[in-house]
Amino acid sequence: MNVFSYEQASSAAAAINLAKTSQEPRYLGGGTNLVDLMREGIERPETLIDITQLPGAIERRVDGGLLIGAAARNTALAADPYVRLHFPMLARSILAGASAQIRNMATVGGNILQRTRCRYFYDDASRCNKRQPGAGCDAKDGFNRYHAILGASQDCVATHPSDMCVALVALDAVLHLDGPEGARTIPLSDFHRLPGDRPDIETELRQNELITAIEVPAFPFGRHSTYRKVRDRASYAFALVSAAAAIDIDEAGKVRDIRLALGGVAHKPWRALKAEATLRGEAATAASFRAAAEAELASAVGLKDNEFKIELAKRTIVAVLDELKGEGV
Ligand SMILES: Cc1cc2nc3c(=O)[nH]c(=O)nc-3n(C[C@H](O)[C@H](O)[C@H](O)COP(=O)(O)OP(=O)(O)OC[C@H]3O[C@@H](n4cnc5c(N)ncnc54)[C@H](O)[C@@H]3O)c2cc1C
Repeated sequence: MNVFSYEQASSAAAAINLAKTSQEPRYLGGGTNLVDLMREGIERPETLIDITQLPGAIERRVDGGLLIGAAARNTALAADPYVRLHFPMLARSILAGASAQIRNMATVGGNILQRTRCRYFYDDASRCNKRQPGAGCDAKDGFNRYHAILGASQDCVATHPSDMCVALVALDAVLHLDGPEGARTIPLSDFHRLPGDRPDIETELRQNELITAIEVPAFPFGRHSTYRKVRDRASYAFALVSAAAAIDIDEAGKVRDIRLALGGVAHKPWRALKAEATLRGEAATAASFRAAAEAELASAVGLKDNEFKIELAKRTIVAVLDELKGEGV
C-alpha cells in the first residue's frame, strides 16, 4: 500500500476544501471497498478524507418520502422501521448484500460508488480498459459468468455490484451532490454510465464532488415491493441476477402501475422500462409477466459463460412478480 495522508472532515464544505488541496484525494466512507482497492494497488490516493462524520440521518419527509444522509450505514437503513414497512425492497436489497459486519461499516454513499467486482479489474496482471484505458479487456474471452448481458460494449463487460442501487433505481431515487462548482441533484438512473468506449468513467460525478444525500420520493404502492437475488451461494455472494419489483394491481386484475429494476446484468443498475411499459394496463398473469420479461431481455447478449443469465433474468422477473401478486396486491 502506498503512503497517504488521512484527514477528517466535519462538513461537506470542509471535505470539498480538503480535496482541493490534494493531487489525488479520495473520500472515505466505511472503506470496505476503497481500502481493499488500495491494498491491491488499484487505488493510490494521496489523501483520504474521512467523511463518516457528515450527516447520516434517515429522515421521513412529510409527503412520505425519505431523505437519507450519505453517511448513513447500510445496516441503519435496512433496519429503519419506516423503511422496512414502506420500502421493503430497499431494506431487503441491503440485507441481501455482503455480510452483517460489512454492512455495519459500509455507508450509503460508498455503496453507490463501489467499483465493479470483475476479477480482471482487480488483477493488475490482466488487461482492463476500466483500470487502464486502451489496455484491452480480458473478461470478454475470460471467465465471465458474472458479467453483463445488457448494455455492454466491446471495451467492457463488467457489472455494477450493488444490490441497494437496484432498489433505489426502481424507487426513482435522486442523489444530492455537492462540489467545487456547487450543489446539484441527479436521478440515480442517470448517475451510473454504460461503459461505451470509456469504461473508466463510471458515473456522472465531477471532480471532487460528494454525494451528500439520497432522496427517495413517496411511493404509494411501495409496501407491495420486494427484492430477489439469485446467486451461486445463499449468502455472501454477488448477484448473478437480481430484481427489485413493486406492482399495483387493480380490482379487475390489471396492472395499474409497476416498478422493476435488475441487478447483476449491466454496468449500471438496470431499470426495466420496457418490461414496465409492456405490463401497464395488462392483466397481471404469468403470461403477461413473461411477455414483459421477453421485451426487456430482447437486446440481451450472452458471453461464453453467462448465456444462461438471459433466461435466468426472465425467470427471475416472472418469479418476483408472481410472488408479489400472491401477496394480494
Ligand atoms: C467481501 C465483500 C462482499 C460484498 N458483497 C456485496 C454484495 O453482495 N452486494 C453489495 O451490494 N455489495 C457488496 N459488497 C460491497 C459493499 O457493499 C461495499 O464495499 C460498500 O457498500 C462500500 O461502502 P463504503 O462506505 O465502505 O465505501 P468506501 O469503500 O469507503 O468507498 C467506496 C467508493 O466510494 C467513494 N465514496 C464513499 N462515500 C462517498 C460520498 N459520500 N461521496 C463521494 N464519494 C464517496 C470512495 O471514495 C470510494 O471511491 C461486498 C464487499 C465485500 C468486501
